Amino acid sequence: MGVDKTAALCCPVCGAPTKRYGYELKERIWPHADCLFYPCYVHCKRPCVLCDKCGTVQVNAPFARKNSRFPLLFEGYAMLLLQDIPRARASRLLRCDEKSLAAILTYWVHDEVNRMDLSVVCSIAMDETFFRRGHKYVTVAIDAYKCQVFDVEPSRDKMAVKNVGEKLERNGGNTKRVNSATSDMSASYLSAVREVFPNAKQTIDKFHVKQVLLKALDAVCKDEQKEAGRKKELFLCRKLFMVPEGRMNNKQWTMVAELSKQYKKMGRAFRIVRSLDDFYASTSMVEAQERLDKLCSWMRRCRLKPMKDAVLTLRNHSKEILNYFHTRLTNAICEGINTMIQAAKRKATGFHTFEGYAAMIYLVAGKLKLATPVPF
Ligand SMILES: [Zn+2]
Repeated sequence: MGVDKTAALCCPVCGAPTKRYGYELKERIWPHADCLFYPCYVHCKRPCVLCDKCGTVQVNAPFARKNSRFPLLFEGYAMLLLQDIPRARASRLLRCDEKSLAAILTYWVHDEVNRMDLSVVCSIAMDETFFRRGHKYVTVAIDAYKCQVFDVEPSRDKMAVKNVGEKLERNGGNTKRVNSATSDMSASYLSAVREVFPNAKQTIDKFHVKQVLLKALDAVCKDEQKEAGRKKELFLCRKLFMVPEGRMNNKQWTMVAELSKQYKKMGRAFRIVRSLDDFYASTSMVEAQERLDKLCSWMRRCRLKPMKDAVLTLRNHSKEILNYFHTRLTNAICEGINTMIQAAKRKATGFHTFEGYAAMIYLVAGKLKLATPVPF
């Protein structure tokens, strides 16, 4: 590939018309996507120009991004593949090392993410997700109406929430216009959200509330396991109790019923956890309030230590828990997105850096309209 000898070129820095000033010394080679399974390369010696203001400047090839070793079409194709298959596999198919692929991905995703329009965001959900062994977490911020991840932050503390707010403002949003925020129970999130989004009604998402009770149930099971000394059977039913109601089959139901008869404490704890679902099925605020009070007093009187501890957590956060009936923001949204993020994680195996990991999350759950040229 070459450049027409008479073609007029302008300065790539200031745009002024310029004179030619020879070519770069060595021919450059860009690996293109395969052509009929044969490797295909683009060869070109790019011209230089002499600008009055900027001096000698290398003209960039129109088919490649500046400082990239790959043509734009190749990058577009790579992005298409990366959305669907793991990076290692994409690397084999494209005959391109993984590091370069990560660089392409990170560039295009962040290019789009920085331009995201967040001016209409008024309802957000925040969730933490596991990044790496050694307890590394990232905070994922989601626009709850669009079900779109709009920010990923490298921690799960106050700073993360602050950064989410800043990102929102930077991209045309307004933290004061956010009227509902969903998160888990962690104290740092709750207080930081109050600070950063002063007008947001805070809701603790359903699944994290349930988790508190499930933990208590698990503790009850463990205690009874020790008392009864029948480890194997009880281990089995601990697993069984964790199965969500909707997904239990008939056989599992009969087993649960039998086990609850046999092991009284566990049965009681199990019924408490189930009644949380009734609470969430309430149709009005008044009804919800009543059911929550009933549940809490039941838990206080149930003579099970872990449940008594759990009720404190529920009491302390009852306002945020009840807000669910105002905002109806189930974290089903978050849960759905979390599933996507887990999938992203699988695809991202080998993304050791936070940037790479964040890029993958944006790619699968950010509803990005990438500016990459699409080959087909
Ligand atoms: Zn110039």
